[in-house]
Amino acid sequence: MKQRIEKMYVKNKRVIVRVDYNVPINNGYILDDTKIVASLETIRFLIKNNCKIILLSHLGKVKTEEDKYRNSLEPVAKRLKELLNHEVYFSHEIMSPSVQERVKILKEGEILLLENTRFLDVPNKLESSCDAQVSSFLASLGDIFINDAFSSSHRAHASTVGITKYLSSGIGFSVERELAALDKFLKNPEHPFTLIMGGAKIEDKLPLIETLLPKCDHLLLAGGLANSFLKALNFNIGASLATKDKEILEKLKQILLNHREKLMLPLDAVVGSTYDKNYTRYRKINEIDDNEIILDIGVHTLAKYRLAIKESKTIFLNGTMGLYEDSRFSNGTKELLTMLKDCSAVVVVGGGDSVSAVNHFGFSDDLTYLSCGGGATLEYLIEGHLVGIDCIMEESNVEILDV
Ligand code: ADP
Ligand code: MG
Repeated sequence: MKQRIEKMYVKNKRVIVRVDYNVPINNGYILDDTKIVASLETIRFLIKNNCKIILLSHLGKVKTEEDKYRNSLEPVAKRLKELLNHEVYFSHEIMSPSVQERVKILKEGEILLLENTRFLDVPNKLESSCDAQVSSFLASLGDIFINDAFSSSHRAHASTVGITKYLSSGIGFSVERELAALDKFLKNPEHPFTLIMGGAKIEDKLPLIETLLPKCDHLLLAGGLANSFLKALNFNIGASLATKDKEILEKLKQILLNHREKLMLPLDAVVGSTYDKNYTRYRKINEIDDNEIILDIGVHTLAKYRLAIKESKTIFLNGTMGLYEDSRFSNGTKELLTMLKDCSAVVVVGGGDSVSAVNHFGFSDDLTYLSCGGGATLEYLIEGHLVGIDCIMEESNVEILDV
C-alpha cells in the first residue's frame, strides 16, 4: 500500500494537495461539481489537523494566452468555499515571490487555491514537461505533498510527479478509494466476470480489451466499438463509425476467432441516416443500408445481453451503448444501466463518458463503484500502475522520512 495521508505526520504542517478540479465550467458556472466534492474528505482531514493547505489543480486545455480566460480556477474556489463552509483564498499567480509571501502568512486551517497549473504551459510547457524549476518551486511552498487527483496520475507533470522528488509524499482519500476499488474488483474479480465495452473508437479501447479478455468470461460489445468488429466479419455497417485501419481489422478478426465463446455482438440496432437528420429506424444487424448509421443497440441485443448480466458476479462497463447524448439513441444505454442497477453482481463503471451517462440517467447511487479516473482508470487497468502513483513511496518504507 502506498503512503496514506492518515499515516503521515501532517499536524500543523504546510500541506500541498494536488486535486482534480478539471470540472466543466460555462461562463463561470460549474456544471458538475462531483470532482470538487471528491476532494472534501482530504481537505476536511487537513483542516482538522490544523494544516496550512495549498491546493494545486489543472483545468481544461491551456495552449494559448486566450485559453486562460475560460480556464481560470477562480469559480472553483467559490464553489469549494460553499461546499466546505470555510474560507478559501485564491491566488491568481502560481509561480512568483508573491505566492511565497502569501503562503508565509497563511494561518493554520486556512486554504489557498492557486490558479490553473497549466497556465505555466504557455509558452514553454513548463507544467506538462515536468520542469525541474517549477517542480522545486511548487515544493518550496509546503512541507508535505498529497496526491488526491487519481485522474491526473497518468501524467508526469510538475504538479503530479516533479514535486514528489522534493517532498515527503502520500495519497489522499479519493486516490486511496480508487486504487482499492480497482484492485479489489478488477484485478481479482469474482467469476463469472463480464466486460461490457461500448463507446466510440476501437483504437482507444483495443489495449483494454486485450488486457481484460483473458480474465473475463463474457465480453459484450456495443457502440462504435462493435461496428468495427462487425466490419471485420464483413457485415455491411453502412456509414457507421468504424476503424479503417486494416491491421486493426485483422486483429479484431483474430480476437473473434480465438475468443468466439466469450464474445457477444449486437443482433439489432437503431440507425440514423447520412441524408436526413430526422431519420431513425429499427434494423436487424444484417439489414443495414449503405447510407444508414448504427447509433444504438436494439431490443434483441439487450435481451441477449441481459442473460449474461444476470449470471455474472462481477461486471465492468466502459463506453456507452450508443449515442446516448441524443434521446433517440439513448435507450440502449439507459436500459443496459437499468439491468446493471438491478443485477446482483459487483458493478464497476469506468471512463469519462460512461460515468457521465450513469449520472445523466440518475444511477450513480445504485452501482457498486464509479471510477472517475477517465483515461487514468483505463491506463491503470491496462498497465497495472500509474506514473503519478509510482513516485509515491510504499507505506512500509517511509518512517525514516517523517520521524
Ligand atoms: P468513455 O469516455 O467512458 O471511455 P467513450 O468516449 O469511448 O467512453 O464512449 C462514449 C462516446 O461514444 C459517446 O460520446 C457516444 O456518443 C459515443 N458513441 C457510442 N456509440 C456510438 C456509435 N454507435 N456511433 C458513434 N458514436 C458512438
Ligand atoms: Mg470518452
